[in-house]
Amino acid sequence: MILILLGPPGAGKGTQAKLLATELRIPHISTGDMFRDHKARGTEIGRQIQAIMDSGGLVTDEITNAMVKDRLSRPDVAPGFILDGYPRTTAQAEVLEGLLRALGRSLDRVLSYEVPEAAVVDRIGGRRSCPKCGAVYHVTASPPKAAGLCDRDGAALVLREDDRPENVKKRMQEYAAKTAPLKRFYQDRGQVAEVDATRSPEAILAATLRLLGR
Ligand code: AMP
Ligand code: ZN
Repeated sequence: MILILLGPPGAGKGTQAKLLATELRIPHISTGDMFRDHKARGTEIGRQIQAIMDSGGLVTDEITNAMVKDRLSRPDVAPGFILDGYPRTTAQAEVLEGLLRALGRSLDRVLSYEVPEAAVVDRIGGRRSCPKCGAVYHVTASPPKAAGLCDRDGAALVLREDDRPENVKKRMQEYAAKTAPLKRFYQDRGQVAEVDATRSPEAILAATLRLLGR
């Protein structure tokens, strides 16, 4: 099964992608995680994207598409995969169509996570991430067992640079201008299923599995 998760920053796509990947036993492909990994490892790509990513802007389509193309050439995608945070522009969606066609694959569903902007801003403000393993918590909705420390490895949790209020604003603007139009793009292809993302992660997962017929 090939799925795309669509929705504003803070809609819970990352959390749902991880849960779905476990349920469906297919890889979770997050371009945001891949970029953060490049940054952490200090690669050439990491250096190129650092400033734009920290400020909440989008990385160029060229860099992003090349990274995704490379990822989709790995054998673990054979049973399907979940795209989280990609595509984010119409140009990326068009490149993805071409990539899938070349691989003889086709998209099964685009899950559009629907949540009001006010809820999203609150979720991002309370979000804390583990710099070591990438685990994501929320100070009130899903706190770690020991305050400020990752459950898995004990690392001190951080507020991601792009989750700072001034940068969240920029991300919301980028979303509205460049990513939101993708919903129509996929609606025109009859591939969108809307998911009410205001509920708990467990309730959202259950509803998603139902609509996927699982
Ligand atoms: P995310 O974790 O999906 O919120 O992504 C974090 C940041 O990585 C974004 O704010 C962008 O700077 C960058 N990024 C992730 N995915 C993409 C993409 N498909 N196109 C451009 N930039 C991206
Ligand atoms: Zn951790």
